[in-house]
Amino acid sequence: MYRIGIDLGGTNIAAGIVNEEGKIVIQGSTPTLATRPFEEVIADMGKLVNDLLAKYGITADDVISIGIGSPGAVLNGYVIFSNNLNWKHVPLCDELRKYIDVPVYADNDANVAALAESTCGACKGYKNSVTVTLGTGIGGGIVINDKLYGGSHGVGAEIGHMAIKFDGIRCTCGGIGCWERYGSATALIREGKLGMARDSQSMIYTLAQGDENKVTAKVVIDAAKAGDKTACEIFDEYVKNIVVGLINLVNIFDPDVIAIGGGVAAAGDFLLDAVRECYEENIFYKDIPHAKIVFAEMGNDAGIVGAAMLS
Ligand SMILES: [Zn+2]
Repeated sequence: MYRIGIDLGGTNIAAGIVNEEGKIVIQGSTPTLATRPFEEVIADMGKLVNDLLAKYGITADDVISIGIGSPGAVLNGYVIFSNNLNWKHVPLCDELRKYIDVPVYADNDANVAALAESTCGACKGYKNSVTVTLGTGIGGGIVINDKLYGGSHGVGAEIGHMAIKFDGIRCTCGGIGCWERYGSATALIREGKLGMARDSQSMIYTLAQGDENKVTAKVVIDAAKAGDKTACEIFDEYVKNIVVGLINLVNIFDPDVIAIGGGVAAAGDFLLDAVRECYEENIFYKDIPHAKIVFAEMGNDAGIVGAAMLS
């Protein structure tokens, strides 16, 4: 038997057939064209799924369920609200069932990625885990007793918007000092630009050729890896900011493991070792077992595999 996972994005819809080992056996995609009426977007989703089934030579009878990961707040099969798609109260699951007669489930895309890590990735074998995605913002998903925790209203794992500085920077959510203003790739780039502006001797300046637009997370991290003083100061502060959020999560949830994914994870052990060191120094209950910090493992497959695991 198979499950189908759909990764609904603002630009593309990706879908895959997933086998019982959690591996994608065939996948495809189609443009979302999100400005259209939602009925048309979901009709294309149905066509994509049916095309994949035909291509792989199986039918709806071989499929246990379909899961959809969608941006925004998702609850009881509805996309309650999504900025990316410009959707409000869209009956996503019922609409897709018009095209294929199997149970359909939906959840938020960050939650779905956490479910992928929990069932098939870095958090496999642990009952309680949090997956943190350090990208443009900070996304998160919380798994408690092997089940996603989405809150009572579908917006329960917005960990990027927990405040870590009361007098901090204004966030896109309207709050002040949110974790994602300090721990995301965007934050590292912002600090890199400031570092370059105050220290033209910095390797950040050299690597970016003095051009603000060429300051990336990789530039700042590469300069820090090489021991550049300004870059190291920025990196150390960045690591502290990540760890403040991680320790908040541990103090609230006490999970078995926290998996870190997203673009910043490309920094590899240089980042992970620094985060672990700072975390161990600052964790509350040092003498009893506490959450391991690891890298997420599912990468690009997380959206499809995690959606397929929804039930
Ligand atoms: Zn915020």
